[in-house]
Amino acid sequence: MGQHSSASASRLLGLDGFEVLTAEITGGEWQVTVQTTASVVGCRGCGVRAELHGRRTVRVRDLPFAGRPVVLAWRKRIWRCREPACGVRTWTEQTVVIRPRVVLTERARAEACRRVGKDAHAVAAVARDLGVGWATVMRAVHEHGTPLVEDPGRLEGVAALGLDETSFLKATRRAPTRWVTGLVDLERGRLLDVVANRTRAAVDGWLHARPRDWLAQVNTVALDPWRGYASALVAPLGHARVVVDHFHAIRLANVVVDQVRRRTQQATLGHRGRKPDPLYRIRKLLLTAAEQLTSRGRVRLRAGLQAGDPTGEVAAAWQGKELLRAVYAAAGPVAARAALERFYRWADGVEVAELSRLARTVRAWEVEILAWHATGGCSNGPTEAVNLLIKNVKRVGHGFRSFTNYRLRLLLHCGVAWQTHQTASLRRRSPRLVVVGQ
Ligand SMILES: [Zn+2]
Repeated sequence: MGQHSSASASRLLGLDGFEVLTAEITGGEWQVTVQTTASVVGCRGCGVRAELHGRRTVRVRDLPFAGRPVVLAWRKRIWRCREPACGVRTWTEQTVVIRPRVVLTERARAEACRRVGKDAHAVAAVARDLGVGWATVMRAVHEHGTPLVEDPGRLEGVAALGLDETSFLKATRRAPTRWVTGLVDLERGRLLDVVANRTRAAVDGWLHARPRDWLAQVNTVALDPWRGYASALVAPLGHARVVVDHFHAIRLANVVVDQVRRRTQQATLGHRGRKPDPLYRIRKLLLTAAEQLTSRGRVRLRAGLQAGDPTGEVAAAWQGKELLRAVYAAAGPVAARAALERFYRWADGVEVAELSRLARTVRAWEVEILAWHATGGCSNGPTEAVNLLIKNVKRVGHGFRSFTNYRLRLLLHCGVAWQTHQTASLRRRSPRLVVVGQ
């Protein structure tokens, strides 16, 4: 094999400290023979110039090139110390770009982590693209991802904290649904952490692990009114304003609309909702904000209620949901207070059991609901956005078994600011030629 390197091929490869000896396509893959550029080295024991003792070829996969997978055959040098008085005999060269006993270059491992983490691609798909096993990719995600997630700078400067629960594992016949609580930076729309469980103790533990000045900076906490979070917050975040945000309140109202629709379906049809059933067909329209309905949507909604809601309870629950939305849409605290009274009067008047229960919850959290208007910028958007991102990760994860993996992947997808290389448009680039092969 020739030992002459190709400067242009080496530049294309762009692997720090390496040069290309040969490159050919075999079996649809690039087979690239490389060596390090360090042809003169000193003994690490005595410093005397070392002598080439032999070579050993190590094969690793690199990033694909021009649409083909790449295998690097690294002709690794084995050095020998000629100094008789030196204790060092032979050693094999090492580099940070291809670590010992790995099957991928470090940049390929970093890319695997980016695709699984940032882009939420399935581990199996990335493994297939790189021509390695699932465990190899997952190990790369752990090794490259953990420092990003554990970086303390990631948690800095949180003024508004959002708490939200999400299911981690759906219930099976043998085990109940497992939940996690997500902690969201409401200003930057970033997932700060996820803790196993949705109990007071889980949130409490996380808050107590934060430094005192971190806690002092948090001036607003937005939470789900259903959970016992509030009492967990009292001690470490006693100074912060607790609010029930728009997102969580409306989610509760939507649950009520769904419950009343299901009950009515069961009562009028004797079975659960099916495709042709009038209420089932408008189940999404019922949850759509009234002002966002198209005129066709409004017609369909009315027709569906007329056909499937003889007692008017679904319509009453829907109206209740809209009246609660009006509390949040109100122009200020005074208008919100008035809107809240309208909601109460409606809920008390129509006597729909599910809506009455919602009204009791709203009464219990009235101060926190109205406090939302005093926060100004505390929006429901971030929690909602993070929830959508979490759904992405869950969809490709096909049901996580390990909480550690789940947390890592969620934080890599919605909790880390990735450094992305901006690619200039080829057309807009200046037509200056780059001389290759100099
Ligand atoms: Zn030596």
